Amino acid sequence: MKFDWIIVGAGFTGAVLAERLASQADQQVLIVDRRDHIGGNAYDRYDEHGVLIHRYGAHIFHTNSRKIWEYVSQFTSWRPYQHTVKAFIEGKLVPVPFNLNSLASLFPSSMADRLERKLIERYGFGVKTPILKMLDEQDPELKELARYIYREVFESYTRKQWDLEPAQLDASVTGRVPVFISRDDRYFQDVYQGIPARGYTELFQSLLAHPNIRIMLKTQAADILPDVQARNVVFTGPIDEYFQYRHGQLPYRSLSFDFRYEQTSDFQQMSVVNFPNDHLYTRILEFKHFTGQNVPGSTIAYEYPQPHILGINEPYYPVPCEANKLIFAKYAAEAKDLNGRVYFAGRLADYKYYNMDQAVGRALKLYDEITQAREVGVSDTPTLAG
Ligand code: FAD
Ligand code: UDP
Repeated sequence: MKFDWIIVGAGFTGAVLAERLASQADQQVLIVDRRDHIGGNAYDRYDEHGVLIHRYGAHIFHTNSRKIWEYVSQFTSWRPYQHTVKAFIEGKLVPVPFNLNSLASLFPSSMADRLERKLIERYGFGVKTPILKMLDEQDPELKELARYIYREVFESYTRKQWDLEPAQLDASVTGRVPVFISRDDRYFQDVYQGIPARGYTELFQSLLAHPNIRIMLKTQAADILPDVQARNVVFTGPIDEYFQYRHGQLPYRSLSFDFRYEQTSDFQQMSVVNFPNDHLYTRILEFKHFTGQNVPGSTIAYEYPQPHILGINEPYYPVPCEANKLIFAKYAAEAKDLNGRVYFAGRLADYKYYNMDQAVGRALKLYDEITQAREVGVSDTPTLAG
């Protein structure tokens, strides 16, 4: 059978591109995924106890982009949800990102008050500061505080998660969870936040419901690309895999989830508890707090970081650092040579630590680029209609 497009990967990047190409440009699209389900890492499903679980870790949709929110909202309604996380530090559960409430929980009140005044004077109320920047602090007391936060919140967690020290990673990684001079305990301050009311998988079913889209699961790209005819390919898998690792393997981090069903209506009173300094796992997830599901019992998951081993486990995270950027640049140069025939996009193909909204934004932008390039008549590529 002939298709206009083959899209490899049915996560957010692939599914959004499929939807746009099918519904806006009347293209015939085949979307393939090697997993046995759509949704990529955002996939959720009901477990044997009837609890809706996020199979590949907790997923909270958050964005400041009205365009992206409105786009995704065509395919789902939302359960309003503001994410909060507590970390187990010195025997207490304190808000993360570390904020003025965390300070007050961990320090004697006179000291916490003094540090709070200093922090507000130095940074301003409502300001976020990455921990690696705060470590440069000149004021001895604030420097001591920065070292404390670094040690208690970031150092061991980052070693567990990445097997690296925070300074060996791009500053943007620990910068995702900056010290927040505020009493706002939310993990994200984005304008739009929520959990799909009927789950992510239903959202993806709705995205891919167009009659121009055909879905093939349990299908490796390599098994289908030589056989199925299509003018164009979008590849959202690992870019090093596409080029058969000819410039070496790009490192990824993986995870293993230990799902447990507990005979309790509420295991930890919140959706996520982080354990920076204890245990081999980094966090415990309790799914009913994301979904608001009213079910007896509760399914939780212990999240264990792992090295990624090709063919054995999933490449969940690109590892952002200078050395890996150099390897990626070699693949990106090869990808550019294929421009017009094979497009690369997504967390694995761009080797970028995207959140879901960024994956959606990337797909929408690529769709615009594809259509604009063709409207102005790029000579050696067929028009979308043709
Ligand atoms: P993916 O979802 O990874 O989809 C790629 C798909 O391609 C996969 O289904 C894969 O099976 C398939 N594939 C790859 N190679 C091949 C091949 N060769 N042949 C066939 N199929 C192939 N983002 C948020 O915004 N909020 C969160 O709370 C959040 N939490 C997260 C928690 C964890 C533990 C992780 C790992 C990620 C989290 N994210 C979160 C990020 C989010 O998962 C990604 O932004 C999003 O899934 C990226 O979509 P994608 O389509 O680019 O990639
Ligand atoms: N981090 C940390 N301690 C925490 C939370 C986060 O050290 O309690 C660091 C760690 O390096 C982590 C990064 O900040 O990988 C980004 O955290 P985030 O919660 O955004 O990670 P994700 O949800 O993407 O796994």
